[in-house]
Amino acid sequence: MYDVIIIGAGPAGLTSALYLRRANKKVLVLEAKNYGGQIVNANKIENYPAIESISGFDFATNLYNQVKKMEAEIKFETVVRIEDEKTVITNNNEYKAKAIIIATGSTNRKLNIEKEKDFIGKGISYCASCDGNFYKDKIVAVNGGGNTALEDALYLSDLASKVYLIHRRDEFKGEDIYLDKLKNKDNVEIILNSQIIKLEGKNKLEKILIKNKKNKTRKLSIDGLFIAIGQEPKNEIFKNVVDLDEKGYIITNNDVCTKTQGIYVAGDARVKNLRQLTTAVSDGSIAATMAIKDIK
Ligand code: NAP
Repeated sequence: MYDVIIIGAGPAGLTSALYLRRANKKVLVLEAKNYGGQIVNANKIENYPAIESISGFDFATNLYNQVKKMEAEIKFETVVRIEDEKTVITNNNEYKAKAIIIATGSTNRKLNIEKEKDFIGKGISYCASCDGNFYKDKIVAVNGGGNTALEDALYLSDLASKVYLIHRRDEFKGEDIYLDKLKNKDNVEIILNSQIIKLEGKNKLEKILIKNKKNKTRKLSIDGLFIAIGQEPKNEIFKNVVDLDEKGYIITNNDVCTKTQGIYVAGDARVKNLRQLTTAVSDGSIAATMAIKDIK
């Protein structure tokens, strides 16, 4: 029996683990893939207080090592459901705890157009800082209008010969600080009011067809497409113990409490106004503190 099981080893989950270990609680962190969550894909983090600049990978690794040093148990297993409110079932095992913190974050949204899946790793990527190096001196496109797309386009503009930045609206959701830098880049072409409607290529992506709001189409020959159109939650498996909103985010009250006593949610997986590193670690610390009170 663990005091607390944390599902997800991103910034929210690992922060919870840190707080719980400092309170000497018996903690199990369950992670399906790799530690760090989405932040490992961030090329640079420059809005985390007191850290001027750090790569997402270094941030995640520092946090992971800090938690390991505190002797939290971390297992790489996929959670499939929560049963009887405090039993966590994975693909290999069954674990019991007095409290559970769901910190499963979110996953990259897909364009959901034909051939998208076929071209993953063959011209399509969801992570510029991971795959950008494959496109040195090549032509790439970035799709999206948030901070991720703007940061990706900036990062790629230093590697690729040409970057198309394609967004479906007439203005960006991402911050001006990135947009201003992009506008000063000679090799970046910003294409607004346009959607990617078709992917073409034999064994790899070769061309994309875009359509603007006036229904005019344009074909672009590219070597790589970086899709940065936001994230989606993955909370369906918890529907028996938490309420979800229409987009699939977990509905909370009093910060991180779900409808089930002793089950908390921290980070991007929950309904919130701002999904960032700062708010994820904030949630992680609050959920841990509430769980500690619960156990008492
Ligand atoms: P986001 O802010 O949700 O932006 C997603 C963008 O993709 C929006 O412009 C959206 O357009 C567009 N989009 C959504 N679905 C689409 C579709 N099917 N086809 C075409 N376009 C589509 O996502 P994000 O950029 O990944 O950022 C997520 C969060 O992380 C944000 O809070 C962001 O500020 C934060 N972040 C912060 C930093 C940083 O501070 N350094 C870096 C990266 C991310 P619409 O506007 O039309 O919906």
